[in-house]
Amino acid sequence: MALLAATLGACGGPEVPRDAPPSTAAPLPSSSPLAANATASPLASSAAQAPIAAAARPAHVTLERARALLFPEGVPSDACQAGDDHARVRCLITLCFDGHAAEQSIALSMFDARGDVVGLEETQDMEGGFRGLIHLVPELPVGRYAKHLGWVRDSQADIAGFLDAIRDRATSGVRYRNEALAFRFMRSVGRTTPSAYAMDWEIAYNVSGSLHSSGPAVTETLFHELFHLNDGGHHNWSRRVLGPIADAIVAKCGAKTPCLAPYAPGKTMVRGGTFYAFQSNNGDIAHEYSAELATRYFIEQRARLAGEPVSAPFKCGPKENREAWDALVGEFFGGVDLVPACR
Ligand SMILES: [Zn+2]
Repeated sequence: MALLAATLGACGGPEVPRDAPPSTAAPLPSSSPLAANATASPLASSAAQAPIAAAARPAHVTLERARALLFPEGVPSDACQAGDDHARVRCLITLCFDGHAAEQSIALSMFDARGDVVGLEETQDMEGGFRGLIHLVPELPVGRYAKHLGWVRDSQADIAGFLDAIRDRATSGVRYRNEALAFRFMRSVGRTTPSAYAMDWEIAYNVSGSLHSSGPAVTETLFHELFHLNDGGHHNWSRRVLGPIADAIVAKCGAKTPCLAPYAPGKTMVRGGTFYAFQSNNGDIAHEYSAELATRYFIEQRARLAGEPVSAPFKCGPKENREAWDALVGEFFGGVDLVPACR
C-alpha cells in the first residue's frame, strides 16, 4: 500500500480511464543469468506445450516475485521445488490455476510466449487521487472473470505483433517492452475504478474496471499502461521531454475542455472533469499526457498497417502536437511514422 500511495494515479473507468504514473524503476538488464540458464522442466513439458527458449528473453519475472504473485498467503510446502527457476515458476502457475483448466492453459501460454506471469494483487486501501479511497481485493481471472484473462492474452499478442511490424520498418531501435510482465489481478469493492495501474514492470488489472468492456478496449488500456512502464525504464522521459509541453498547454487552458480538445491525444474523459490526459489531481500530468499520446500512436499506426486512412492525425493539430509526436516516435518507436505528412 505504501508503494501505491507513493505512486498512485491508477487507471479507472469512463470517469477514470487509465491509470498510474510511470515506474521509477531502472530498466531491467538486457539479459540475465537466470534467463540464460532456464530450460524446460519435466512439469513444463507435461503441463502444456514446450516453453520458448528462455535464453532469448531479455528479462524475467523472478521466482521470488512469482511466488508472491501466485501465492500471496504462501506456497504450499514442498510444492514446485524441482528444476531451475523458470521451471519452478511454470509449476507455480500450473498449481495456482489448478481446477481451472482453460484459464490454466491461457496463463501458461502467456508465460511460454513472453514470460508474463498472471497472479494476484494484494488486499489494500488505495488513495486514488481524485477518485478517493478505494478498497482493492485480489481476484483471480477464472470463472466469471475468465474473459479478462483471454483479453489480456490477446492484447499482449496483438501488441507484440504490432511492435514487430514497427520494428520491421524502423531505422533505429524500437524500445517498447511488453515482455516478462507480471499481471496483478484484483477487484475494486463497490467501485469500477481504477481499471488498471502500472509500476516496476507489473500491471494491476481490475476485473471490475469500467474501461474493460471489450478486447479492443483492454488492448488500448494495456498499451497505455505499458507506456508508463517503459517511461520508467527511460528514466521518466515523459516529465523530462514532454513535461514542458504538457505544462504549457495546461497553463494556457486550465481545465477548459474546449481549449484542451485540440491538444488531447485521447478521447477519454473524466466524469465531471476533463480529458484524462489533462485531469488534475491525477499525478504528474506529463505521465498521463504521454501515455495517452503513446496510445494514440498505437491507434493511428495500426490503422495504417491495416491500410486504413487516419482521418485527423494527431500530429496535424497544433504545433505542440507535432513536437510531442516526433519526440515520442524517436524515443520509443524507432522513428517509424506510417501516417502521411500533413498537408
Ligand atoms: Zn496512466
